[in-house]
Amino acid sequence: MQYEQFRQKLCSLCGLCMADAWPAKESMRSCVFNTGWLGARERDLFGRERSLDDTEELRFGISRERFVGRLKKPLPRTQFTGIITRMAQKAFESGLVEAVVTLHRSREDFFFPRPVLARSSEDILAGGGSKPVLSPTLVSLQDACREGIQKLLVIGTPCQIHNLRNFQEAYPYLRDMEIYTIGIPCTDNANPRRFRWMLRRVSKSHRTARHVEYMQDYTCHITHADGSIEKVPFFSFPRELFGTNVFAESCMACFDYMNSLADITVGYIGAPLDREKMPQWVTLRTEKGRVLRDLIADELETSAEFSSGDRRPGILMYANKIIPRLANRDAAPVKPGRDVSLKEGREIADMLYETGPKGLEFAGYAVDMHLVRNYHYVKFNYPGLLGTLVPRHVYKILEDYEIPA
Ligand SMILES: Cc1cc2nc3c(=O)[nH]c(=O)nc-3n(C[C@H](O)[C@H](O)[C@H](O)COP(=O)(O)OP(=O)(O)OC[C@H]3O[C@@H](n4cnc5c(N)ncnc54)[C@H](O)[C@@H]3O)c2cc1C
Ligand code: SF4
Ligand code: SF4
Repeated sequence: MQYEQFRQKLCSLCGLCMADAWPAKESMRSCVFNTGWLGARERDLFGRERSLDDTEELRFGISRERFVGRLKKPLPRTQFTGIITRMAQKAFESGLVEAVVTLHRSREDFFFPRPVLARSSEDILAGGGSKPVLSPTLVSLQDACREGIQKLLVIGTPCQIHNLRNFQEAYPYLRDMEIYTIGIPCTDNANPRRFRWMLRRVSKSHRTARHVEYMQDYTCHITHADGSIEKVPFFSFPRELFGTNVFAESCMACFDYMNSLADITVGYIGAPLDREKMPQWVTLRTEKGRVLRDLIADELETSAEFSSGDRRPGILMYANKIIPRLANRDAAPVKPGRDVSLKEGREIADMLYETGPKGLEFAGYAVDMHLVRNYHYVKFNYPGLLGTLVPRHVYKILEDYEIPA
């Protein structure tokens, strides 16, 4: 194992440098924190960059089709209904691919990952469910190489898909493989060293937590082993969680929430909130993405996207709060505790959910607030990297809110 990646400060531990089948130097040259987000990669894949005049494409990336959907028969132990896991199973069972790069749960911690190259339906099914920490998924690419896999499916975060596409093009190791990609939207991923520390402060019972997701009603839903759901409003998170490297630094310098280079992206953020049906939000981007979706078309219940409300007031309020906080890097350490009680936090979350943006407008809100925050994080902490890391659509979004770059 090579651990040269630890010499690079911005690193999301994607696993590419941890392979010993190729020099870590080559992985690092393909790393998105050295090459930058989108730009040339988007042009390579789609023949053009996203339009700056199309407000949806600007935020969600280039696509052929988007829809709200769920599996009619949800798969057990998956994050929502298991669209990703089912597509992966069908891709394998139909012979479209010979193996799937995914993650199992580690034996040490339920929420930690164990990278696997899955070569059976059971192993693919065991990959279901989120591991909400940085995960070295791409280390399994070397197993695929060694086993002579010709047709491969990779399930990954946006940084992983960027690194994979760049590496496949730049170096010979994967060049002859036919690779399909399924992307998850991703933001604010946790540093594995800080994850339990954080969950202990957020949940009343972190040991029994089995499913964690930041949902559209401004609360973190934590499902426990006995099936009960704890909802913790974002506004009531203890203040010591902010500014303590809970979210990895790499994730504060991330500019592709929607996984725009994946063949197909499967999330939930633009779907309606329905705890019973758990609807998902699917963005089909390429011909390979269409092939993957068609594998499960008859197992899907679908509906059209919807949109309501206005994201602007929330973004402007957030920008006014977060930009000065990021600028003030010499601030004294915060005292532990909540600024807002759980009861008050719930009232604020209920009020915002009632009156705030929904559907696509909520997804736009989530994208914009992270771009505004991450742009300023890079500006104040890594000003020399602004030119490399930040894709051009970010400047258009800042301009739309009249936030100076
Ligand atoms: C850290 C994180 C943040 C996310 N944030 C959002 C968000 O803000 N908005 C949104 O719409 N969706 C987000 N998602 C995606 C969402 O949680 C679901 O994974 C997605 O909607 C697919 O649901 P599913 O039931 O089809 O997935 P499943 O069928 O359960 O499949 C999930 C797949 O994702 C893989 N996976 C799990 N954790 C990771 C990880 N850490 N790194 C790489 N691969 C992983 C699994 O191995 C599995 O193959 C996030 C996921 C993660 C891990
Ligand atoms: S993100 Fe991946 S490619 Fe980049 S330095 Fe870290 S391990 Fe290497
Ligand atoms: S937030 Fe961005 S950098 Fe962090 S794991 Fe997700 S895709 Fe990678």
